[in-house]
Amino acid sequence: MTNYTDAHCHIIPSAPCPEMLAGCICNATTQSEWEKFCATSDDKTFACIGIHPWQIETITPNWANELYNTLVNNPCLMVGEIGMDKYHADLDTQAEIFITQLKIASELNRPAHIHCVGAWDKLLHIFKELSKSMPPLIVAHAFNDDPGLISQIADKYNVYFSYSAPQDTKSENRILQTPPTRLLTESDAYDGDTAVQKIEDAVNAIATLTDQGAAECAEQIYQNFQKVISYVRPID
Ligand SMILES: [Zn+2]
Repeated sequence: MTNYTDAHCHIIPSAPCPEMLAGCICNATTQSEWEKFCATSDDKTFACIGIHPWQIETITPNWANELYNTLVNNPCLMVGEIGMDKYHADLDTQAEIFITQLKIASELNRPAHIHCVGAWDKLLHIFKELSKSMPPLIVAHAFNDDPGLISQIADKYNVYFSYSAPQDTKSENRILQTPPTRLLTESDAYDGDTAVQKIEDAVNAIATLTDQGAAECAEQIYQNFQKVISYVRPID
């Protein structure tokens, strides 16, 4: 499974990317993790730093400057995991922190990796307001909203959609509505073994669903993964 890629996990990037994967993108969720995400031991591992919407109460007053400076000093890094979640407190503060991070990603030309649960209406409003100050590329991690949204936002905001193996017909439908050139696989895992297993399951399920071989399916997803990381280079 040499072409298998994990577009969204939480493995600490100083641990080598699992041998069975051709690439992985590791997301930090809190400010205290960022330092650890500036180093890695191989050229298949890519990292993102950001404030997750569940972690907004953990920020320090200087967080935005620290994010900006760390990204400037580390051209290898992307921005993530950021976003909004209706089931967590204080959507107004979430929005404020999210917008600041999108603007920084835009200014520094880094892709942004997004978590959004039940708040796509708010995100679309923010995207529209930011208009030309949007990041060059968005990864919508574990996209779980209306499949009709996919065609509305894919080209407009250069959005890629990452999925684990679908658990029901709704999630199958989202995958089927996603253009093959914008499809990614993800584990959301914290360790290499789980990541490998979940990516293998995801590729097999997507291949079956889209009526192609696993190798062919993995190759297309690998090409899409290359588009995401084309904005950065591996960490030295
Ligand atoms: Zn995650």
